[in-house]
Amino acid sequence: MSGVLDELFSKMLHSRIFKNRELLRPDYIPDELPHRENQIIALAKILAPALQGERPSNVFLYGLTGTGKTAVTKHVLKALKKHAENRVKLATIYVNCRHDDTNYRVLVRLCEAFNVNVPFTGLATAEVYRRFINGIEKFNGIAIVVLDEIDALVKKSGDDLLYKLTRVHTELRKSKVCIIGITNDLKFTEYLSARVISSLGEEELVFPPYTAPELEDILRMRVRDAFKPGVIDDSVIKLCAALAAREHGDARRALDLLRIAGEIAEREGSDRVTVKHVKKAHREIERDRIVEVLKTLPLHSKIIVLALYLLSKSKREATTGEIYNMYREICRELSLDELTQRRVSDLIN
Ligand code: ADP
Ligand code: MG
Repeated sequence: MSGVLDELFSKMLHSRIFKNRELLRPDYIPDELPHRENQIIALAKILAPALQGERPSNVFLYGLTGTGKTAVTKHVLKALKKHAENRVKLATIYVNCRHDDTNYRVLVRLCEAFNVNVPFTGLATAEVYRRFINGIEKFNGIAIVVLDEIDALVKKSGDDLLYKLTRVHTELRKSKVCIIGITNDLKFTEYLSARVISSLGEEELVFPPYTAPELEDILRMRVRDAFKPGVIDDSVIKLCAALAAREHGDARRALDLLRIAGEIAEREGSDRVTVKHVKKAHREIERDRIVEVLKTLPLHSKIIVLALYLLSKSKREATTGEIYNMYREICRELSLDELTQRRVSDLIN
C-alpha cells in the first residue's frame, strides 16, 4: 500500500503538467488584468478622493459572471490601500452576500471589521446596526464597503439595509463610508426601489463580456506561470477561449476549462494538454452543471423529470397525459400528495 501512496504523492509533487496549480484557482487574483484597463482606471478615479480624506461616491458595478468585477475591485482596493498607508485611515471591507445573505449576517460582518462584538444570532437587527454605527464612528476614518453579489442579499432580505448603508454617511460625524455594490444579475435592478438605485448608483460601471481574443490573452498570461513550459499549445488556449466566449465571455469558465483539462491530462499520464482533454473538460463541466440544476429543482419538478426519464426508456415521445399518469404513480409510491394535472402541465412547459 505504501508503495502506491508514495507513487501517488510523488506524482502530485512532481507534476509534469502544472508549475503552480494555485494560480488557476477561482479566487486567485493576478497582478495584471488585461482588457479591464478602462474599468480599473474608472474605479480608481471614483475612489481616489478617499486618499484626501473625502468620501468617494457609491458605485454600482454590473456585468455577467466571470467578467472581472470581483477581480478588478479587489485589485483597485489593494492599490488604494497601499497609497493610503500613513496618510489616511482607510478600511476596506469585502462582504460576499451570496455567503452572508441576510441583513443580520451582513451587519455582523461589518461589525467584525470594526472589532465590534456581536453574537451570530439573537440580537435585533436594529441593535446590530446601532453597534455598527458606534464601531465605525470610533474608527474615525474612511471605510469602503464592498457588497459583492448583492442580488443574493436583496432577493432574500429586501433592500432596506442596502438603502440604509448607501445613505449611512448622512448619519456619521467622524467617519465616512462608500459602498461598492456588485451584481452578476442584470435584471437585478427590478428588485430595487428607485431610492436605492439612485443612492447606490451615484456612479455606475459596466463590465461587458470578454471576446474570444481577449480571453486568449487572459489565458496566455496565466499559462506562463501556472503550467510547465511546452505543456499547453496555442490550439488548447484557442479552444478554451472559444468555448468560454460562447458562454457569455466568462473568464472563470475559460480558466476552469484550462485547469480541468490539465487535471485530466495529468490523470491520464500525458505530458501535454491537448484539444481532446479540453473537450473532455467541457463535457465534465456541462455534466456537473446539469446535475446541479437537477439537484436544485423543487421536489415535484424532480418527480416529473423522473417520470419523463422512465417513459423515455420505452418510447420516443410521451403525451402530457402519459407523463401525468407516470408522475402520479411515482407520487403514490412515495406516499406524496400529487399536484393537479393542470399544475403538472404548467411545470412541464
Ligand atoms: P466576476 O466577479 O465578474 O464574476 P471575477 O472577477 O471573479 O468575475 O473573474 C473570474 C475569474 O477570471 C477570476 O479567477 C479572475 O481572476 C479571472 N479574471 C477575470 N478577468 C480577468 C482579467 N482581465 N485578467 C486575468 N484574469 C481575469
Ligand atoms: Mg464576482
